Amino acid sequence: MEKTLVLLKPSCVERNLIGEVVGRIERRGLIICGMKMMMLDEKILREHYAHLADKPFFPILAQSMMASPVVALCLKGIDVVNVFREMTGVTNGRKAQPGTLRGDFCVSGSLNIIHASDSVENAEIEINRFFKPEEIFDYTPANMKFIYEVDEL
Ligand code: UDP
Ligand code: MG
Repeated sequence: MEKTLVLLKPSCVERNLIGEVVGRIERRGLIICGMKMMMLDEKILREHYAHLADKPFFPILAQSMMASPVVALCLKGIDVVNVFREMTGVTNGRKAQPGTLRGDFCVSGSLNIIHASDSVENAEIEINRFFKPEEIFDYTPANMKFIYEVDEL
């Protein structure tokens, strides 16, 4: 089943929103198969945000991502990369639709509480960046038959 990488950024952790976000993930029916708190450093951020390394805002972004621990999650589900990007909302919290995590919990284009992988290919790279293989638990929840119909699996 597809997997995606999520980071609850310092702007989520510091604002006591871990439970809100994790609660919504659970209530939606997405399966949490990895979860840990960690401090990021410049090295991992240069890799993770390589597509933004030349932008003038990169130093501020990197500082904000090192302001406190983050919570890294690996989620599992059918089409979970897309399902979770839709739940996250667009990058700028002021433009994100109400009902999305960013649209409900932030108003910044930078301190937007969550990172979510943007493609299946990047998800695989990012899961390997933030988790060791033994930190991913590929279990099947007991309530699986009430989350997906048999012909979806
Ligand atoms: N970001 C920023 N200013 C910008 C664009 C992005 O501070 O003008 C930050 C923001 O925190 C965003 C992250 O850089 O979440 C990664 O940018 P990306 O374009 O990949 O957006 P995302 O995939 O997070 O929606
Ligand atoms: Mg991105």
